[in-house]
Amino acid sequence: MGDDNRRVGIMGGTFDPIHNGHLVAASEVADRFGLDEVVFVPTGQPWQKTDEPVTPAEDRYLMTVIATASNPGFHVSRADIDRPGPTYTVDTLRDVRAEYGPKAQLFFITGADALEKILSWKDTDRMFELAHFIGVTRPGFELSAAHLPADAVSLVQVPAMAISSTDCRARVAAGKPVWYLVPEGVVQYIAKRRLYRR
Ligand code: ATP
Ligand code: MG
Repeated sequence: MGDDNRRVGIMGGTFDPIHNGHLVAASEVADRFGLDEVVFVPTGQPWQKTDEPVTPAEDRYLMTVIATASNPGFHVSRADIDRPGPTYTVDTLRDVRAEYGPKAQLFFITGADALEKILSWKDTDRMFELAHFIGVTRPGFELSAAHLPADAVSLVQVPAMAISSTDCRARVAAGKPVWYLVPEGVVQYIAKRRLYRR
């Protein structure tokens, strides 16, 4: 962590499993915004996904570690999975802010689908004080920040990866490959732990 005015990207997600769409988005934003690092923060119990069972946090955390291990600028935080109760982004931002200090500049990275929902999140005013938001393109969704405060959000075009965790889970359940959609280590981890089998 060293000097205290670092530029830190934050990529929150369920990561069930983490896939190359997440990694490309983080890498592209890190380059465009000159970030010193990107912290991936797997959610605890996601409040928006209560109908569908989510894979245990420890498996999602380990897949995220495996997927990011080779990139010296990528890190993984346990903040959300270690905090009891449902995950709210404002709490994630508070915890990362506490870890990196008051001078760090925080950039919360989010795909077009999640950006659209931001105003339904908790304490949005506080969220925009804690971090600058970066919305990235995602195939199948329109990227717009029309309903969000202009100075709080930037929009960035990233290489189009038509990949979702939902599709990866369905592919595994159907016995189809997820090679090249998720990193090799994640392919192996899914097989080893027999995740997403019916
Ligand atoms: P699920 O299908 O389970 O919702 P997901 O693929 O949407 O999974 P999440 O963990 O929900 O993955 O997403 C975490 C963040 O990454 C969100 O901000 C989401 O918009 C973004 N994201 C996910 N996939 C892509 C992609 N292919 N391109 C750009 N952004 C993405
Ligand atoms: Mg999603």
